[in-house]
Amino acid sequence: MAMVPVFCGRDCGGDACPLLAEVVGGKVSRITHNPAAGAFVRGCAKGYDLAHFHESPERLKAPLLRTGPRGSGEFAPISWDEALDRVHRGLADCRSRHGDASILCLSSAGSTGALHNTERLTRRYLNTTGGCTVLDGSYSSAAASYALKRAFGKDYGRSGFDAATMVKSSFIVLWGANILEARLGAELSARLVEARNRGIPILSIDPRRTRTLAALGAEWLPIYPGTDAALMYALLFQLHSEGRIDRRHVEARAEGFGELIEFVTGARDGIAKTPEWAEDICGVEAGAIVGLARRWADAKPTMLIPGYSIQRTEAGEEAARLCVALQLATGNFGVPGGSTGSLNNRLPTPRTGSIGEGDGSGNAHVPIVRWADSILEGPPNYPSKIRAVYSAGGNFLNQGADIAKNRRAFETLDFAVCHELFMTPTARWCDIVLPAASPLQKEDIGIPWAGNYLLYKPRILPRESGERSDYEIFAALAERAGLRDAFTEGRSESQWIESFLAASEIGDVETFRRTGIYFGDARERAGLGDFAADPGACPLGTASGKVELEDRRWTAWKRTPGGESLLLITPKRMDRVHSQGGDYPAAVRENRLEMNEADASARGLSDGDTAWIESASGKTAAKVSLSRSIIRGVVSLPEGSWFAEPDAGDGEPPIAGAANALTSTEGTKESTSCVMHGIAVAIRRA
Ligand code: SF4
Repeated sequence: MAMVPVFCGRDCGGDACPLLAEVVGGKVSRITHNPAAGAFVRGCAKGYDLAHFHESPERLKAPLLRTGPRGSGEFAPISWDEALDRVHRGLADCRSRHGDASILCLSSAGSTGALHNTERLTRRYLNTTGGCTVLDGSYSSAAASYALKRAFGKDYGRSGFDAATMVKSSFIVLWGANILEARLGAELSARLVEARNRGIPILSIDPRRTRTLAALGAEWLPIYPGTDAALMYALLFQLHSEGRIDRRHVEARAEGFGELIEFVTGARDGIAKTPEWAEDICGVEAGAIVGLARRWADAKPTMLIPGYSIQRTEAGEEAARLCVALQLATGNFGVPGGSTGSLNNRLPTPRTGSIGEGDGSGNAHVPIVRWADSILEGPPNYPSKIRAVYSAGGNFLNQGADIAKNRRAFETLDFAVCHELFMTPTARWCDIVLPAASPLQKEDIGIPWAGNYLLYKPRILPRESGERSDYEIFAALAERAGLRDAFTEGRSESQWIESFLAASEIGDVETFRRTGIYFGDARERAGLGDFAADPGACPLGTASGKVELEDRRWTAWKRTPGGESLLLITPKRMDRVHSQGGDYPAAVRENRLEMNEADASARGLSDGDTAWIESASGKTAAKVSLSRSIIRGVVSLPEGSWFAEPDAGDGEPPIAGAANALTSTEGTKESTSCVMHGIAVAIRRA
């Protein structure tokens, strides 16, 4: 028996969590926590289930050629040589007939790591062979990234905080942050539990009483989705009207704060953003808003942890920007135990080498949320006429907004290829499906989503059942274009890892390989702490040297539920990574619609009934789960469930509960980022 370090490298909010594989007789018998990481940096149940994921009977084991209509699921196994020849020819034809930008790189972070990074490897291959159209931003945090980059300039990447600083907090505010289910790094969950055990009060502002909230015994402040900015304005109004804001302190650190206060007080538009004004919009009682403003200001330091949810709304940029303003206004900005209001993971990780994308300077660009529109419309609305897609580490057809549009987009393509472990909806719409290796079959260096550490894993299991690594596949395709050396630079996978380690800050590489973990020196970083303490001596990398709040669009509240319409949220589930992994195991397939008892009763629905959920984009059906843990007027359908055909032919609705049947590709007003919460839906019995 051997105990071998491992990590998943999945796009889950952890990315690199320290695990240990028990290997017996050439098989992984179980996966546990890696004690070399200490008590707080830990994986999740999905990581401990990695061996089952690897051994799933639903894994793809041979290259597949589509033999029926797109989406029919009709495929025939073919040899690797034939599959690679077909992919090479399909892409080369497209390039010669329609130009390089006619190929869309539709890859994402299904596999992360210094080498086996599906998004980077796909771009590297496509850039090496002529270029392509690439997607800008991410479905995860594009709106927040947009706003925070403008606020912090070049220092955006050091504006987060280390989870270990939480022990210094006097009050923790989770704003739309369901940490124990959605993960925001490998350390935050255990540190929150530690904070609770130390008696630090925790408040959760969320439309749902989440599992995180219940497990931590946190207080709940329910709010309508997409109205966070209204509550934030009202908090600022209250802080200002009670004279609790040290304006000199704030204005030494921020440009634009005075203009924000003018807006909040109504000096600009005649509308004072009072707690009473906000109550009508966000559903939080005015008295509770007053109390929260006072508590936030008094309990120094207050740590604000924004989740991704509040920026996946129609005006998500504004919520992200106002998180920063609130921490400035309350004197908690950049203080140990406080935060800047930025996303927690915006901090450097230890230096290591990693695979490059090659020269993509000539590529065309499309906002990620609009990929299907760009295929369907092409020029002049979009820069290129897309005729082919290459997908690895992503399930865009199901995971992108508006599944019906995504299907139509795929149906127009001349050629589509993907790397996959399972027959996902995206794979079903491709011409060629190439079976990819699992995390246990790839040596790599893990770069965590958050935290000052690196992980190592050897290739624990061989690739002997027909699957290949993404790197192997791209190298073989580049060879067919006469560009193998340009893609590989003459290196094997293990030689790349050697070169990354040589370029890293890790001194004792042998210990790193044996224990599987390396920690950087600083593990209690309060982002932008130097600037916060002395803004004159340590100016920010912005034009003004200060945080720039921008006098732009103070317009960010939206609809409250009304009439027949309810507001949909589409949160993550702890037992799956988005729509990856084949909805495996079977228990994960059931995706229920969580609904307040009163809303269900008003529609004649009982627990377990099947309901249609309909939005402007489409509809899906799901079983109803009655709940007292969700605010009235809001329903929750977790993201990631695979869609089913709208008509099963037997009169019964297919109970898929596919959230992206209901979302839109329009995007946020300011940065065209994805909107996954606060969507108006109608619910009726199926
Ligand atoms: S959080 Fe992600 S990377 Fe970490 S153990 Fe869970 S599934 Fe694996």
